[in-house]
Amino acid sequence: MTAAIPSRAVDLAEKVRSGELTALAVAEATLARIDADNERLNAFLTVSRDELLAQARALDAKRARGETLGPLAGVPIALKDALCTRGIRTTCASKMLASYVPPYDATVVAKLKAADALLPGKTNMDEFAMGSSNENSAFGPARNPHDPERTPGGSSGGSAVAVASGMTPAALGSDTGGSIRQPAALTGIVGVKPTYGRVSRYGLVAFASSLDQIGPFATDVRSAARVLSVIAGEDGRDMTSLRVPNDDYEAACGQSVRGMRIGVPEEYFAQGLDPEVEASVRAAIARLEADGATIKKVHLAHTKHAVATYYVVATAEASSNLARFDGVRYGLRVSGNVARDSKHAQGGALRAMYGATRDAGFGAEVKRRILLGTFVLSAGYYDAYYLKAQKVRTLIRRDFEAAFADVDAIVCPTSPTPAFRLGEKTSDPLSMYLSDVYTLPASLAGLPAMSVPCAPTKAGLPVGLQIIAPALKETTMFRLASAWETARQG
Ligand code: GLN
Repeated sequence: MTAAIPSRAVDLAEKVRSGELTALAVAEATLARIDADNERLNAFLTVSRDELLAQARALDAKRARGETLGPLAGVPIALKDALCTRGIRTTCASKMLASYVPPYDATVVAKLKAADALLPGKTNMDEFAMGSSNENSAFGPARNPHDPERTPGGSSGGSAVAVASGMTPAALGSDTGGSIRQPAALTGIVGVKPTYGRVSRYGLVAFASSLDQIGPFATDVRSAARVLSVIAGEDGRDMTSLRVPNDDYEAACGQSVRGMRIGVPEEYFAQGLDPEVEASVRAAIARLEADGATIKKVHLAHTKHAVATYYVVATAEASSNLARFDGVRYGLRVSGNVARDSKHAQGGALRAMYGATRDAGFGAEVKRRILLGTFVLSAGYYDAYYLKAQKVRTLIRRDFEAAFADVDAIVCPTSPTPAFRLGEKTSDPLSMYLSDVYTLPASLAGLPAMSVPCAPTKAGLPVGLQIIAPALKETTMFRLASAWETARQG
């Protein structure tokens, strides 16, 4: 049969570029892998079989013509189902969009295609990216390959599972408050949230627009850097994308940590942190120090307000963004019962349709957030909640600015616990929200942050080390991540 498919995207691209592996062989092996494992793990919501095989054939033909292949040649990349794909349904794991087929590709999807990646399909997630466990999917949760009774994290759980289980060497997710980093930590892979504005959000179904950012998952740091270098860059279609040069993230990999100043925020080693997670992260920090980094305490005093702040800002933005799902413009339409809604003499049928559509189309968590977000924005409460949250957000950002006056990067846990059991937190939204306590601050501050694996627990559950860098200093973040990866594996 065919040669083994390398698990690292960078190695795989090399083999396809050199012709040692055909893209078709990679595509067929990927489909076989998905067929074998997807029923159990529920990572993919849509497998675009025919499109994948056609892409692979076109790529092999391109190579046969003597053309040079792109930096992700033949690398299968799974796409979170919040990214619009032309001609392929994009559900956001919601009944509202269960049969929505976008007429265009998100900018990141177009860029992956231009880099000769293969796109096998769309992955499971929490509905509209709201959640930390994938249990808010209208299509059932994705499952953690390390223990299928446990969550892979969320909201980009399916993308993390695709990579962690070996279905694809890389994937894209979106991270609003931790949705790339937390599932990467819980499944034992690398997950990167770039600086806000580094990657175009055009074609990402919006959740909270001042926080949403697209980023890669991969089995290793260098491959994540490669994928980021392909998807990053200014885009005229997203006015929040930044006009800055795309740094060489891969060149930052493979350097030593010697001389780096690393901050450790004491506030992140607080109540609620699992002792095994703490031990694993502290051991990683000790190793970085032994390898020549300087470790310094830093203070991020407003961290304790991050969860409250995030759940005001994010729900406010979500309530506005999700107003577009009204049964007219996108997806589901359910005609309501006009008689029951008779108080609306004028436009009764229309109002009944809006109500019935949104009631049937959205799940419980999405409704909870629309209600909360509408409340914090309403006249009389706006100053007390939304405006106050914006001010606290500024204080959180300033904490980081002060810390980065002394250190090059900050390290801390990604998630307070290893993967928890499915069902464990579904009846208590607050305990679910607390699983984002360490990822939310960097999101509110717009900073680049990533999760890399550190030593697993005794039971073999993965643990993630979070690295946070100053805005646009992804190269610093990758340098540290790669040095740690080498130390851990060496
Ligand atoms: N878990 C967080 C939430 O539920 C973050 C989600 C995300 O980053 N999309 O909002």
